Amino acid sequence: MFEAFFRPRSVAVVGASPHPGKLGFDIMNNMVKYGYQGKIYPVNPTAHTILGKFVVNSLDKLPDDVDLAVLVLPGKVVPQTVRDLAPHGVKACVVISSGFKEVGGEGTLLEQELVKAAKETGIRIIGPNCIGIMDTAVGLNASFAGSMPNKGYIGFFSQSGAMCLAILDWSLDNAIGFSKFISLGNKADVTEIEILEFLAEDKETRVIMGYLESVTDGQRFMEVARKITRIKPVILVKSGITSAGARAASSHTGALAGADAAYEAAFKQCGILRAHSVRELFALAQSLARQPLPKGAALAVVTNSGGPGIIAADAAELGGMHMAGLQPETVDELRSFLPPIAALYNPVDMTGTATPALYERALSVVAQDPNVDGVAVLMTPAASLNSKELAEHICKVKVDKPIFSVMMGRHSVEAGRIHCMENGMPSFDFPEDAVQAMRGMLTYRQWRESKPAAVAQVKGDKAAVMEIVAKLRKQKRLNMSENEARKCFEAYGVSTVRSLPAATSEEAAAAAEKMGFPVVMKIDSPSISHKSDVGGVKVGLANRVQVIEAFHQMTTQVRKLMPQAWLRGVLVQEMVTGGRETIVGLSRDPQFGHVIMFGLGGIYVEVLKDVAFRVVPITPNDAEEMIRSIRSFALLRGVRGDPPADVAALAQTLVNLNALVMDVPELAEADINPLLVLPRGRGVVAVDARISLSRPKGE
Ligand code: ADP
Ligand code: MG
Repeated sequence: MFEAFFRPRSVAVVGASPHPGKLGFDIMNNMVKYGYQGKIYPVNPTAHTILGKFVVNSLDKLPDDVDLAVLVLPGKVVPQTVRDLAPHGVKACVVISSGFKEVGGEGTLLEQELVKAAKETGIRIIGPNCIGIMDTAVGLNASFAGSMPNKGYIGFFSQSGAMCLAILDWSLDNAIGFSKFISLGNKADVTEIEILEFLAEDKETRVIMGYLESVTDGQRFMEVARKITRIKPVILVKSGITSAGARAASSHTGALAGADAAYEAAFKQCGILRAHSVRELFALAQSLARQPLPKGAALAVVTNSGGPGIIAADAAELGGMHMAGLQPETVDELRSFLPPIAALYNPVDMTGTATPALYERALSVVAQDPNVDGVAVLMTPAASLNSKELAEHICKVKVDKPIFSVMMGRHSVEAGRIHCMENGMPSFDFPEDAVQAMRGMLTYRQWRESKPAAVAQVKGDKAAVMEIVAKLRKQKRLNMSENEARKCFEAYGVSTVRSLPAATSEEAAAAAEKMGFPVVMKIDSPSISHKSDVGGVKVGLANRVQVIEAFHQMTTQVRKLMPQAWLRGVLVQEMVTGGRETIVGLSRDPQFGHVIMFGLGGIYVEVLKDVAFRVVPITPNDAEEMIRSIRSFALLRGVRGDPPADVAALAQTLVNLNALVMDVPELAEADINPLLVLPRGRGVVAVDARISLSRPKGE
């Protein structure tokens, strides 16, 4: 079907115009200008010829060899036009017209009408509200962009038309080439998922690059992306990072799980490289398109000045890479031809007098060192150094490792930069960009080489959980009490703290005696979600008297603060010592479905925000990675004489939670905060648990 879009036998431009300045003219102009070999039929009720092409005055006169129609008409007539095109064998439409969903109200209805027309006729639609599409291999430019991209290996799609235009313009000055260039517009019919599938198959595309504002179907997107990234790298910029968070949430996990957390997780889980800026997007795309993947994280730097060399070294350490230790043989060889004042260890600083020939020789020696996985060649402008000549020399060095050039400055290094880019060597303004690119390439290699993992099967007691869910539904409650939530977790193998309910101070004292001192007392009420906030938690109660006193104090205070709350009494709990406080939780993302969270827990979790997310289902590998990825992981590994914590039991808990929500998808949010992680071999204990259900359908 995409053949019809990108390799059409003939193209009709419906709404073509003979008047410069109109979109219908610009599109015609692009169609004729860049070498497209098929026939072009402008469609316009009155004109005779446009740019030398005979005009078709009404759709019923359209010949039957048209595969693709580009529509630049008032939005209102677009659905009917699609229907009128069907009898002529048109298979694909690019709808440039706007006035659809992006304007809301009637536009939304019009877009539904368009989708209906597509369904009825079988015609596939890109857009509406888009710039158009381009295929550099056949010179097809079915768009109103001001230019045509260079030929190249990057397949690009974008949800934002403005972004398309800016990126195209920028790429021209930077010798960056594209295979396909696709503006998706409103994605009424063809979505990013099909475009990804198409670009994955496309022979001219080596790297897929995209700019996304939203995904249409998160789970399906992940399923497809996971396969494609095994074939080709996919790099995406996802905008709208800060828009999240505003949503009201009753759990910690819900409060921390902004929409971006789900995207970040989803991308990671399916091997998509996420670029955080357009600059990073390009740094990665050109490197992946033109350079071999690095085998490891060891970077070597060859430079003509000290400062930038140090910046590169710092960037490497900060960016998850390291500076390669050169072999003695390499150092000896460098010594044999570099000036005596040169620094021979990495960074190799040849000093300001370095010539292009010297660069070439040093680069080829360093690049061949087996300890080196990739090289950044740095130059700062020097009177004696012509950037173009330098570029010619360094581009001659060919090894099976990535080489990046970093030509600092602008004016005097421009020619060199362009020469590098034209010859397949990525060239950057700053050393940090090279480091970032190499890091991304390494991440991609590691993903490609990782075995696809399976979701672990956990046999939980689903019936027990369903019984509690049924009880809540009957009582028209969404929130479980701590006790109920704890039972659900226990049903899926999460060990929880021993806990006894007590309705009176006498019962509390008896429970404490049974349990053994010291104990913890907590208010027991489904309507209170953060117990400490209302004085509803007392730890370290050491004897009967303290327990009785705590009971009276706690119930009185909570009554006073929350007169409406339904108090069932208190819970008396065993006091757990020697554990580290973590949080494990669950929430629902509108695009991707359930996400699982792990982080450093306790009452400050929302302040510290040291958490990691993954989209359900998670594999045991995902669980391990989540745990290792938080900033305070060192605390779990054991610092200052603390024994290492039971990370295996922690990972198992995440896997168990995954199983629980897969079995019972009506769970909306959950927190185990804290989940106390005991020293290795002793497991984990949930001491606080909350679960809430999703609203019943139709409410
Ligand atoms: P909430 O989060 O609703 O305020 P928690 O049950 O999480 O109430 O208790 C607050 C804090 O008290 C926990 O973060 C933990 O530090 C401590 N705590 C609670 N229960 C226990 C327990 N059984 N053993 C040890 N410490 C506990
Ligand atoms: Mg808590």
